Formats: sequence, structure tokens, C-alpha cells
Amino acid sequence: MDCIQYMKHLFGPVFSRRLGLSQGIDLLPPKTCNFNCIYCEINQAPQLSCKRGEHVPTEVILAEIDELLANEERVLDLDVFTITASGEPTLHTGIGRIIRHIKGKTDKPVAILTNGSQLYLKEVREDLSQADIVIPSLDAARPESFRKVNRPAKCSADLEVIIEGIARFSHEFSGEVWLEILFVENINDTPEDIAALKIAIERIRPTRVQLNTVARPPYESFAKPLTRKRMEEVKEEIEKGYAGHVDILAGSKEADEADNGKGRNGSIEKISVERAEDEIIEMVLRRPCTTADIAGTLNLEIERATEILKNMESRGDLSIKIHGGKKYFRASKGQKKENG
Ligand code: SF4
Repeated sequence: MDCIQYMKHLFGPVFSRRLGLSQGIDLLPPKTCNFNCIYCEINQAPQLSCKRGEHVPTEVILAEIDELLANEERVLDLDVFTITASGEPTLHTGIGRIIRHIKGKTDKPVAILTNGSQLYLKEVREDLSQADIVIPSLDAARPESFRKVNRPAKCSADLEVIIEGIARFSHEFSGEVWLEILFVENINDTPEDIAALKIAIERIRPTRVQLNTVARPPYESFAKPLTRKRMEEVKEEIEKGYAGHVDILAGSKEADEADNGKGRNGSIEKISVERAEDEIIEMVLRRPCTTADIAGTLNLEIERATEILKNMESRGDLSIKIHGGKKYFRASKGQKKENG
């Protein structure tokens, strides 16, 4: 099967509302995943897999990390290293080694974004045990809604096993667990869904619960966001009888504003057009971005970012998607490097 690989596995840093200035580390070729979520921001069909493996040589990723760590000025500004993937990062068997490598060379925290589906495996729990923050997703606690929103591969574990795995990890882990729930209108936001999620949250006892909704162009156009009002109602419902923190990540005005125009510090606006274009391609391959996202991340003036994006668009390097009244840039097919 053909697969697509990025030229680089480190991307950003990007500003994240919850983590601050975050250096992204992407472990997998897109889209190596055991789920096919309807809201996924990666605009391509998944290569469904549940098999853990060294999908990208660990040494290649460690070499990129070492190259970054050698640049003290760039590392100084960072708030966190975030291990993620254009897919499910715990499918990479080198993840534990990569976490230990970063922790051995810097005192910056390491965060992991995961769909939580592999935490029932002892080796995965051990791999993630050295991280500081683990952010597993749990979008549904009813099998029917789980199938609709996450569309797990046939080889994926049952929902009950997944919830038990997340709970077990949460109880064993000495760092923080932030449980993320992404709601899609009329798919996983019924009163029955909220009630089942509340029971799962009680079992998991995460440090925080973070509520999200569809913010960027989703893989399936029928995946619609909850309104801000509905997000507030869901938050109120989840907070009833629950003593932990519940935050809303998207679907509020504050969240949308926090997303715009923040990024790397320093005088990066002096970067060449070629380097800016390379970085833009790496960003939009991973998720659709607005002009403000790109200007903020690369610390470019909006006018300069607009000009560069216009040129890339006219050359056919980027495609446009209008979503929620905003213009998003995505990589055109020609920008993806085919690799057997
Ligand atoms: S959202 Fe994450 S878990 Fe879902 S299909 Fe995309 S990469 Fe996989």
C-alpha cells in the first residue's frame, strides 16, 4: 500500500491554548491509526492498523530532536514538547524511548496526545509513564456512539476494554491525565451519552476533563460542532456531582480568540520565503490552518504571511476550504511525498 511521509517529524512550535508554546513531534506517517474519526483534521483516508511497530525509525526522530536541542535559543522559549502523530502515536514502539530521551536532555515537560485506545496494554502504559501530561480522548462511553464518532478498526479493542485501560493508566500514572471529549452534534451529545460519559469520568478520575467540539474542517462534512450554548450546557451537566476541573477547549469566544496570532517568539520573520514555505507545508499537511495560525506560528506579519500563502495557492501548492466562515489552507495532493 502506498503511504505518505513527512519530510520532518518535528513541527512548530505552535501555540496551544492548553499547553502554551508547544514543540510538536509527529511519530507516524499519515494517517496511521486504529480509528477513523468523523471529525479528524487530517484530510485523507486512514491506513487502519492496530499493530504497534517502528513505523518511522526511532533514530531518525531522535536525531531531529537532538538537532533542535542543540539550538538553546529555540528551546528556551518552549513550554512543552508534545508527542503526537498524524494517527495514533502509541502505535509507534519507540515512543517510550523518545520520551526518556527528551526527559534525559531537558527539563521541559513532555505531553502526549493519544486516542487512549491502547492504554489497556501494559507496555503502552509503561511507555507513557515517564511523560508529564497524558491527554487521552474518550468521545463516547456507549458502544453505538463510539462506533459512530470514532469508527474504530475491526482490530481495535472493545470500548469497555478501552475505558478500563484509560482508568487503569490514570490511577497508576504519577503525572496529570487530561481527558478530552470531542462532541459532534447529534452523534455523541445525547442525554444518554452524557450520562454514560459521567460514569466513565468517575471511573477514570482524570486531573481535568476538557470538552471540545469540531473547530477545523473535519474529515466528514456531516460532522458539525455543538453551539457555544450547548457546550456550556454539557459542561454544566458533567460538572454536576463531579469535583474535578472541567474546561471548554473550543466552541467559546475566548477559545477562538486564544487560537489566533500566538506562536513562536523571536525574530523569525526574517526567515527566507523558501523556509517559510517549507514550514507552511509541514503545518498544513498535519491540519488545516488559517492565515492567522500560520502568521502566529512562524511569527510573520499577517501581510507577509498573506502574500506567501497567495503565491503558494496560485502555484497549486495549497487548496482552500471555507469552514465556519473562516478560510483554511490545506496541502494540495502534489505536496505530499509519496513513499512506497
Ligand atoms: S482524530 Fe486522531 S484518533 Fe481519530 S482518526 Fe484522526 S488521528 Fe486517528
